[in-house]
Amino acid sequence: MVDEVSPVQVDLDFDQPGKTFGALRVPHSSNDSAYGQIIIPIVVIGNGNGPTLLFTGGVHGDESEGPIALMSFCREVDPNTLNGRVIVLPTLNLPAVHAATRICPLDGRDLNRVFPGDPRGSFTQVLAHYVVSSLFPLSDVVVDFHSGGHTLKYIPCVIIHKHRRDFTASLAAGRAFGSPMILISKDLETAGFLGNTSEAAGILTLTCELGGGMVSPGTVDLAKAGISNLLRHFGLTAGGPAMSERSGGPPARLVEIVDLDGYVVAPKQGLYEPFVDLGESLQKGAALGRVHHAGHTWDPPSTLFATRPGLVICRRPPAHVHPGDCVAIIGQVVE
Ligand SMILES: [Zn+2]
Repeated sequence: MVDEVSPVQVDLDFDQPGKTFGALRVPHSSNDSAYGQIIIPIVVIGNGNGPTLLFTGGVHGDESEGPIALMSFCREVDPNTLNGRVIVLPTLNLPAVHAATRICPLDGRDLNRVFPGDPRGSFTQVLAHYVVSSLFPLSDVVVDFHSGGHTLKYIPCVIIHKHRRDFTASLAAGRAFGSPMILISKDLETAGFLGNTSEAAGILTLTCELGGGMVSPGTVDLAKAGISNLLRHFGLTAGGPAMSERSGGPPARLVEIVDLDGYVVAPKQGLYEPFVDLGESLQKGAALGRVHHAGHTWDPPSTLFATRPGLVICRRPPAHVHPGDCVAIIGQVVE
């Protein structure tokens, strides 16, 4: 299906040197617009013969750190300082970004669960197929900028995958990004992800989780620094060592999610009271928090316990929970 022609129209030349602001025109027939198009910004910045980096943001519309940093980068970067090409889609899932939702409001699909997409499918599937069929073949490196959005907050990190043949190169790029943590994933839940699809195509890939819950100056600055550091790491810009090394800060912690037991979920509907915060170390069986059963004041709360020892690398900011909502992720520190 990847070989089928995409219905997406593109109004820019990927080989044009300099900086070009263009658009993807994704067909979307609706009650309000019979031959309608959803117009998604794409920016190509090119100069010289260096590698091509593809940066995507806004795959989930409630994760704003990456889009803010990527839009700033596109406006501010001087193409003459580059040797190579950067293709940027700061707000790839634009309808979801405008709606501030994780899921695309046009078809109810999660863009990061439908890759490699379908050129004859719904809006989200068509968009994913275009990225795979037209942008991945141009790219040497893919970086997909996420965060925890409305419902999760991570220790800011870069995610790499353990069993890839280019693990060493991925780890070096992850260290260059400059986040305080590198999360080693074992592909526990990966069907339809952008990053797994680009890796399967043989492209060096990083996925960032830049905090979440609420945009902060620190996480946006980290995203901006990460962009700059990766350009340097992959030789698109000259200069000294990457910012993370230059600042003399502690090296990124390597943390692994060992199995699905690391994901702690609410057992009942109610209000979650956390006992621990991000970055705290736990023993197995330690109390993580409890769910108060709103409407049943007399019922004792349900306490949640750590299912394994480790570090709280992610937790849910909203107190309101339904059964099955992830309230915390526990990772195992590797170094
Ligand atoms: Zn996301």
